[in-house]
Amino acid sequence: MTAAISIKQLKKTYNNGFTALKGIDLEVEKGDFFALLGPNGAGKSTTIGVISSLVKKTEGSVSIFGHDIDKEGPLAKKKLGVVPQEFNFSQFEKVFDIVLNQAGYYGIPKAEARSIAEHHLKQLGLWDKKDTQARFLSGGMKRRLMIARALVHKPELLILDEPTAGVDIELRRSMWSFLREINDQGTTIILTTHYLEEAESLCRNVAIIDQGTIVENTSIKALLKQLNRETFIFDAKETV
Ligand code: ADP
Ligand code: MG
Repeated sequence: MTAAISIKQLKKTYNNGFTALKGIDLEVEKGDFFALLGPNGAGKSTTIGVISSLVKKTEGSVSIFGHDIDKEGPLAKKKLGVVPQEFNFSQFEKVFDIVLNQAGYYGIPKAEARSIAEHHLKQLGLWDKKDTQARFLSGGMKRRLMIARALVHKPELLILDEPTAGVDIELRRSMWSFLREINDQGTTIILTTHYLEEAESLCRNVAIIDQGTIVENTSIKALLKQLNRETFIFDAKETV
């Protein structure tokens, strides 16, 4: 069975000499809902940056559905949707245009792009904002906009970097049910989070990363059994 993602001995040393990833091995099965947990500065966003080719790795390899990101970049990219931690769209662009422009980037025919974009914007409660400039959206709406944008080319793997950080509990729960739905429909999901309850509620499997090293890689069930809730490092160091 092909893994949705396979990461081997991934190392990243930034230009200032700091080694953020010390040799990460990680495999996520197709169809999984996977949590990457860890305290601030652990290396979660660096990992996602490498996967999405925004951060240049120092060593190691990453394959998405069997496509090496170096050797088969375009094929790998087509299968991948990423919701980054920071908002990275033009604040002056309109909601619908932000999603449609992304579709253009993937060469999706206009009519199809419009219908996919409309579908997700409706699902995410943003359809009435379609002609609004991004700068007028709330933080939660901007996050949902990035999710709609990440889904426009129908990726088989969706990676979200702390999608619900700073989002109130009600909206968080509605995002959970949305994510569950697309996972049920077959999209593999990896998310990074600080919220233990989030990982518990959504995910089947989990890796814990600390100081650039994977320190645990197991099922959520096994992890809960193994550790007392109070001892979860990411819980104790939580600073949302
Ligand atoms: P996380 O997402 O888990 O909070 P990051 O991957 O953002 O962690 O950061 C991991 C470590 O790498 C941190 O110590 C951070 O300060 C450092 N780091 C991140 N980006 C850079 C950079 N561009 N240059 C140097 N160090 C960086
Ligand atoms: Mg981060």
